[in-house]
Amino acid sequence: MLHRLTISQLTERLVRRDVSAREALAACLGQIERVDGQVKAFLSIDRADAEAQAGAADRELAAGITPAEKPLLGVPIALKDVLCHRGQPVGCASRILEGYISPYDATVVSKLQAAGAVVFGRLNMDEFAMGSSTENSAYWTTLNPWDTTRIPGGSSGGCAAAVASNEAFATIGSDTGGSIRQPAALCGCVGFKPTYGRVSRYGLVAFASSLDQIGPFTKDVRDAATLLGVISGHDRRDSTSLPEPVPDYRAALTGDSLKGLRIGVVKEFQIGGLDPGVDLAVKAAIANLEGLGAEIVEVSLPHSDYAAATYYIIAPAEASANLARFDGIRYGLRVDGPDPFELNCRTRGAGFGAEVKRRIILGTSVLSSGYHDAFYLRAQKVRTLIRKDFLDAFGKVDAIVSPTAPTAAFRVGEKSSDPLQMYLSDIFTISCNLAGICGLSMPCGFTGSPRLPVGLQLLGRPFGEETILRIAHAYEQATGWHREIAPLG
Ligand code: GLN
Repeated sequence: MLHRLTISQLTERLVRRDVSAREALAACLGQIERVDGQVKAFLSIDRADAEAQAGAADRELAAGITPAEKPLLGVPIALKDVLCHRGQPVGCASRILEGYISPYDATVVSKLQAAGAVVFGRLNMDEFAMGSSTENSAYWTTLNPWDTTRIPGGSSGGCAAAVASNEAFATIGSDTGGSIRQPAALCGCVGFKPTYGRVSRYGLVAFASSLDQIGPFTKDVRDAATLLGVISGHDRRDSTSLPEPVPDYRAALTGDSLKGLRIGVVKEFQIGGLDPGVDLAVKAAIANLEGLGAEIVEVSLPHSDYAAATYYIIAPAEASANLARFDGIRYGLRVDGPDPFELNCRTRGAGFGAEVKRRIILGTSVLSSGYHDAFYLRAQKVRTLIRKDFLDAFGKVDAIVSPTAPTAAFRVGEKSSDPLQMYLSDIFTISCNLAGICGLSMPCGFTGSPRLPVGLQLLGRPFGEETILRIAHAYEQATGWHREIAPLG
């Protein structure tokens, strides 16, 4: 049952030399062999490369390198297909990048490896991170380890499903409007979106550059703190990364009561359309937080109603510019034509899927000269108001609590023909990215029947990661939902 250990449990055993890094990797690969035919989280795995890394970790363990020096020594961690890993395919689950091999490592990958991690495997996602279910992958839909008739969420669905099925000890994904938190919620794991500027995006294929952040999926809050500590920090290769010092995030997990902390519930989030099972679980969680000593306070985010509309102007606008680089000349797929223009049109026509085309068309339209001021500029102004709402609220409270998603995992096909319904899956997560603040999702119970995981979202101030980790840890220790194992775990 090695594959079911958390990172901190695995690390203890690695240090005691009870298990080797090669065995830890073999445990993941064995579990993948057993269940990934049903879960379909992985797009590819370079076994030889992973085994070489595990061998190197074993040599370091034998030489007495400690977790204090390398906190992830020998821990297998898998990546969303949006992060560059040298010598490995990077495809963003898109046909347009077919055959592309990355010549370099993303900063997060270098940091994971410097911390001793065994970085292996490419995880499925919605094409270019656009979606909430992985149904927009050009390859296949990943399925939820709790119920394989259902989606795992998205866009980092492969990341969440791999952790929930114990195919990896942790995974790294990206969150532009909820793509870490929503799949974490739907698969019953912990997903952390750090503050904008906390983690370098060098080597992350950009979707919407003013919103994208990289973050971890883990089995518990302590592991999230460990990974966050490893991947955070300033990087001169990403001018949006900020030079804030990186605290010892695990030191924030004090186990103290939450006395003295104020946690906000958002007036505007009390909307209809919330799944009753989600509503019940989240209300119970809020009562629990109160029981742990926190004071629950109502706060208002008056511009919440505009968050989805604002996001679906800004994100496609930035995506249309970022995706212009996929021209059939420089990367991946090329469909030849009589001239470069035709080549470009044919490559993009064949290489991008329907949702990506929809976003590019939407984005170029809101940026076009006749519409720029009416849509893009106005959306930027509303975004400023949304950020201000949060900063005002954080004048009164230390964190904000809400459901992560309005429903539990939905059935494959249930929303794929209705983009608007799909966009509403992000209703509680997108404003966090617009405001640039940090947020996590963690398990807080299950819906009745069918029994599916429910996610609790905790939002924190810019660089307030420690506070939400502290709250999350206290709640986790008091409830123990993270110990539930998916049928395919
Ligand atoms: N579901 C949202 C979208 O489709 C968010 C995706 C993300 O965070 N990458 O844009």
